[in-house]
Amino acid sequence: MKKFALLGHPLAHSLSPLIHQAIFDAVGIKGTYDLIDLAPEELSGRLPGLLQTYQGLNVTIPHKQAVLPFLTGLSKAARRCGAVNTIARDGKGYNTDTVGFLSNGLPLAGGNILLLGAGGTARMMAFESVAAGANSLTLYCRTAAKAQALVSSLQAAFPTSGCQIEIASTPEALSDSLQSATVLLNGTPVGMWPHAGGCPVDPSLLHKDLVVFDPVYNPTPTRLLLNTRKKGGIAHGGLGMLVRQAIASQGIWNPELQLDSDALAAAILPALTRHLLSDHPIKILLIGFMGSGKSAVGKVLAQKLGIGFVDLDEVLEQESGTSIPTMFATVGESGFRAVESHTAKRILSRPGSEVVSAGGGLPVFGANRTMIRNTNTLVVALDAPFSTLWERISTGPAGSRPKANGGEGSTEALYQQRRPIYRSFCDYSVESKTSNTPAQTAELVLQGLGLPSLS
Ligand code: NAP
Repeated sequence: MKKFALLGHPLAHSLSPLIHQAIFDAVGIKGTYDLIDLAPEELSGRLPGLLQTYQGLNVTIPHKQAVLPFLTGLSKAARRCGAVNTIARDGKGYNTDTVGFLSNGLPLAGGNILLLGAGGTARMMAFESVAAGANSLTLYCRTAAKAQALVSSLQAAFPTSGCQIEIASTPEALSDSLQSATVLLNGTPVGMWPHAGGCPVDPSLLHKDLVVFDPVYNPTPTRLLLNTRKKGGIAHGGLGMLVRQAIASQGIWNPELQLDSDALAAAILPALTRHLLSDHPIKILLIGFMGSGKSAVGKVLAQKLGIGFVDLDEVLEQESGTSIPTMFATVGESGFRAVESHTAKRILSRPGSEVVSAGGGLPVFGANRTMIRNTNTLVVALDAPFSTLWERISTGPAGSRPKANGGEGSTEALYQQRRPIYRSFCDYSVESKTSNTPAQTAELVLQGLGLPSLS
């Protein structure tokens, strides 16, 4: 039995045991993978013994640099960025985060790179960008001294590089850099669970010529990725990096095995996604005009992800013991909206990953949009031309949609008013075609989210 372990502090939510077990199962390694929570002051006393006990160690925060004095040698990548995440039995240190990062195939060579943050991951991405031959690298970090320190170490490591390295020190400079950037790298935790509504840059500044890499993997996808895809740009998430750095570590520890990274990554992804949805719960909120298929698509989407489905209108009817048209008639639209907001907040804030379909009016109100952004929710709009929607609305049960009671003309006016709100507020938009079944539209949503179908 081969023994491997991860050293870090704290390690509560590590996905590494799950990933390494999946690799063991896929390639037939008889091994174990332990989590060893090691406070910084314990490192020097315990590392030599651990190197004897284990065939290989992974190292994470806060030990990636602290282990360097104990190692017998460093790989080129580890030396370049001055940090190690993998130690072999002979005490040599490697940095397989770089393998995970580079596996995205980002157009770093000749690119104009904008890098957010100046922590450990940002540092690795900065060194790899300059090493790959970036044309320019602009750093944006809320702590100016850290950005300056990173620039100094890059200049020291690459004295003859032609890469123009600079700092964007104001939000205006960030906005200018984003306009001319070809690659955006997020080195901050902004957008990470439990704040999935966050985005490290104003989504309206993203553009179709950007390739974005966001190492954050909980949630998968992040709002940054969805908004990049919404603008037509290319976006890569952190789950692939996480899986590929683990595969690369196993490759170092088991040099006799020829590991097929692509096949292994594809095999591991469904179990990881299931685990993330259970351990780091998020809501996927479907919005759109009446008739856009939110309930039908939502049900199938939830099935495909193996999570619950909630139709907000159904909850409102069940809890009030009456139909929505009757609620409109008895308490008026404003009374209905107050109950709707309150119920939506309760559902979007409760534990557990769920797909939630909302009535067409919910996101129209600014206070509801703010409430949604303060929850762990990603927003997907189902979009269709009015003619398609009217065909569906007008063939449904008469009187079941109070906002369509005025007939086609007033309903189209409402559509024209609401559609721009759906389009600008959503993190991603999918066309709900009549020629597609709900299952096909749900597949399109999954593709946009970059998630596998789990059932
Ligand atoms: P880190 O060393 O703590 O660095 C975080 C950086 O983000 C720092 O520059 C920090 O600025 C900045 N920052 C933190 N909160 C911010 C905020 N609210 N607004 C703006 N900037 C903020 O962290 P790290 O190890 O580099 O990790 C960064 C992210 O990468 C994490 O979310 C982690 O999940 C992800 N990651 C993914 C993988 C993977 O395999 N996919 C691997 C490693 C890390 P200050 O210096 O001013 O605090």
